[in-house]
Amino acid sequence: MVFVIAVICAAGNLLFVEAPGRAAGLASAPAFKQYALVNGRWFNGHQFQEDRFYVVDGRLTRKQPAHVDETIDLQAGFVVPPFGEAHNHNVEGLWDLDAVVARYLHDGVFYVKNPNSIREFTAQIAPRINNPTSIDVVFANAGLTSSDGHPVPLYEQVLRESRYRTAVGEVPTGWFNNRGYVLIDSELDLQKKWSTLTEGQPDFVKVFLVHSEDTAQHRQAGGSSGRKGLDPGLVPSIVERAHRAGLRVSAHVETAADFRVALSAGVDELAHVPGWFLDQVREAERMVLTEEDARLAAKAGVVITTTTVAMKPAPAADARHEGIHDPQGGHGQSKHASSMDPATWSQARDLQARNIRLLHRQGVKLAIGSDHAETSLAEALHLHELGLFDNLTLLRLWCEDTPRSIFPDRRIGRLDEGYEASLLVLSENPIEHFQAVTHIDFRMKQGRVLHAGR
Ligand SMILES: [Zn+2]
Repeated sequence: MVFVIAVICAAGNLLFVEAPGRAAGLASAPAFKQYALVNGRWFNGHQFQEDRFYVVDGRLTRKQPAHVDETIDLQAGFVVPPFGEAHNHNVEGLWDLDAVVARYLHDGVFYVKNPNSIREFTAQIAPRINNPTSIDVVFANAGLTSSDGHPVPLYEQVLRESRYRTAVGEVPTGWFNNRGYVLIDSELDLQKKWSTLTEGQPDFVKVFLVHSEDTAQHRQAGGSSGRKGLDPGLVPSIVERAHRAGLRVSAHVETAADFRVALSAGVDELAHVPGWFLDQVREAERMVLTEEDARLAAKAGVVITTTTVAMKPAPAADARHEGIHDPQGGHGQSKHASSMDPATWSQARDLQARNIRLLHRQGVKLAIGSDHAETSLAEALHLHELGLFDNLTLLRLWCEDTPRSIFPDRRIGRLDEGYEASLLVLSENPIEHFQAVTHIDFRMKQGRVLHAGR
């Protein structure tokens, strides 16, 4: 069969065509070109099949339109839906937005979830994300915790210096209150602060649960020392208010007790798997999930984000950066700002692997998120290295389940009639060879061909 090829490859590489209307002053340019995408092998959720799709109004169709602007030869490449990053804080401010967006597009990660963010920074970057030539991101704004709970010391003592000084300059103590976190110590606090919280129009609500098994000691200590989060007794009413406002709730959890508190309170998502952060090896048993925990999570339909690389020690070459090691399990953007010592990390890694295997076996919905890496590519490769899933399962988690968990109402995560025309073309088959996900020859988002060189 012979196709009319309008965009031809050169030296084995696909040419990237200019996205229509992208340049300034092209307001009169047509919003969408109509493409024929030929000679591709398309992922159908199970395998790759030769197919031909057209792109009309930014969506995929098999029905040939009356007019095709360009035909693109996909060169027998392997077509998959773009990937997701279900947990990261790095899409944050104007100071590095271009580089961050470029990295995500380069890695084929088009959908990102930021489960703790500063509302005024988000407002500044809003015009430059969530459009066809950028990444699509949802934000929680400031998460809810108790006085002195995580992440208060992290923002006030660590990130103020390591992350924000260069970005926004010197800020006074307490500046992050109601920006990086919201303090909820009682039902009265919740009543008083709730309307401000919803006025910020978060895409979802984040709650912090930390060592809930120590709640009695935290209450006795009158709110002082110890690693902690919200009083578990307040979480059900937070969830109820959020659901009434049409907002999903994502819980930061560290231990199995946090996991149980989150589930019984009715949260929609867990932002971590217990074991992701282990302060001391002797606390390991607090992280162990049971079959019953996994069964209940499956029954509740919660989505649990993996974050297995969140605290991974930096490579030896970066050891000189240990001075800014962050003991709080922090949200620093730098890969050096958060890691554990190698012995504790190896124990934590085994705990996470065990818990994830258990959750998956019981049919719990999982999503892939790295928390601190440049993109979720690091997390996907680490999950592959841990050998928890076969390649097909891992691919589906990353290109189907994760994007849908971030944007449940969109037609994404699938290459089929009427779905958004967002796709990646890989030069090799990722089911045979998972590393193929790192060789992306072509990217399209919502019907626009993307340039994504790094
Ligand atoms: Zn995080």
